[in-house]
Amino acid sequence: GPAPESDKEARAWIKGLGGETKLFIGGAWKKAKSGESFETMSPSNGEVLTRLAQANAADIDAAVKAASKAQPAWAALPGHVRARYLYAIARLVQRHSRLFAVVETLDNGKPIRETRDIDIPLVARHFYHHAGWAQLMDGELADKEPLGVCGQIIPWNFPLLMLAWKIAPAIALGNTVVLKPAEYTSLTALLFAEICQKAGLPEGVVNIVTGDGATGEAIVNHPGVAKIAFTGSTEVGRRIREATAGSGKSLTLELGGKSPFIVFDDADLDAAVEGVVDAIWFNQGQVCCAGSRLLVQESVQERFIAKLVSRMETLRVGDPLDKAIDIGAIVHPVQLARIRELVDVGVKEGAILHQPKAGVPAKGCFYPPTLLTGVHPAATVSRVEIFGPVLVATTFRTPAEAIELANNTEYGLAASIWSETLSLALDIAPKLKCGVVWVNGTNMFDAGVGFGGYKESGYGREGGREGLAAYCKPKWLAKAKPIAVL
Ligand code: NAD
Repeated sequence: GPAPESDKEARAWIKGLGGETKLFIGGAWKKAKSGESFETMSPSNGEVLTRLAQANAADIDAAVKAASKAQPAWAALPGHVRARYLYAIARLVQRHSRLFAVVETLDNGKPIRETRDIDIPLVARHFYHHAGWAQLMDGELADKEPLGVCGQIIPWNFPLLMLAWKIAPAIALGNTVVLKPAEYTSLTALLFAEICQKAGLPEGVVNIVTGDGATGEAIVNHPGVAKIAFTGSTEVGRRIREATAGSGKSLTLELGGKSPFIVFDDADLDAAVEGVVDAIWFNQGQVCCAGSRLLVQESVQERFIAKLVSRMETLRVGDPLDKAIDIGAIVHPVQLARIRELVDVGVKEGAILHQPKAGVPAKGCFYPPTLLTGVHPAATVSRVEIFGPVLVATTFRTPAEAIELANNTEYGLAASIWSETLSLALDIAPKLKCGVVWVNGTNMFDAGVGFGGYKESGYGREGGREGLAAYCKPKWLAKAKPIAVL
């Protein structure tokens, strides 16, 4: 196969960090006040890449102050001027896309094919798209006011893409931000800070602070923050909802999922098998909207499962820098242990385990593509988000039963319907209690549409017109009129 992607440039950049990273506050690189740091490693081989600065409450205070100081002047710029900075950032991301892709792959373990062809292009697209909205602030959106300083906390599964979803709309509308990447995957956020400097972004508009959950809490609790935007686990989301209740802070939450992938007996079964590969084995299944529950109509279930099991045999698991690899590393040993444990529970509760014969590399955080069949809808693995390459399958007889099973979850992020009868798919789609429905497809994203969930999957939308609403307030401006004198 092709040679692995060269990591020379990425390693030189990481080396240039000097063994320990700094915080990007007020346009400058600052040491963490505590002097504390922690290791970040490459999950495909366990190698320590560098140490990350651990920001504490005093660092967060400095970052929020820098963001507050910068915000009025940033908001006062004409929208088309702010747009120019977003265009510059988008172009610089594209210019350095190879470096971004390799750093992301080293840090997160996801295949280079995905970082190169999906993550980084979507990041650039998000900044281009929101540059357009920034310009509309001069006319079309002139009645909208920014919120102020936004605290943004993101997970490790799409590190740079989640950063883009947070930062692009916020700064387009005249807010400034303090963003904390996840502790496993902070490197591309630091590289992004360098891009902001290169783009000449005014200091303090974007501040990047690294650290753990305590750092996140310091952002959430800071009184100078007008809004919290969080993507991550449902559990932490719940804690943030409690911590901000009554504080007057705006809040958007993008949380977990257990999305159904529904295959009807008239579906193009081969296409649906490829859909499953994308739905649950893309990014090692560490996708909030992963199609992790397969609901297949009883009459085709045997044929469909046979096709799927043989397709699983062809998926290659291994070095994520290898361009021929389909499935890379799980982000961290803690996550790997959690996946193993949940699959064990599934088997104990009666599921039949299917994994390819080839196995996985002995070294590194790898887990094979996995299918559990004969799973009862009430089983643990049917209910809990596994956040790994594990698909659970069950059957249904009628469309009504499919809808009932699909909605039988505390989550409601996405759903995928596979049928050649479009009238059937379009009849079912509105009956599914979730924020995104794909028909004969899956994992389709676009900066131009609002993405988000129902129920425990969170609230608020990211992307599209709806996503803008999360970063501005409408204002009705009425000027006093002289009272008419008769
Ligand atoms: P996590 O909740 O453990 O961590 C997310 C972020 O929150 C990290 O930056 C972490 O440091 C920070 N954090 C942890 N404790 C905190 C606290 N008490 N206060 C403030 N911040 C805190 O989640 P994770 O394991 O990194 O991510 C996986 C989860 O994210 C999955 O459940 C997945 O479904 C979800 N996710 C959702 C979406 C979506 O759009 N709905 C997208 C991606 C991931």
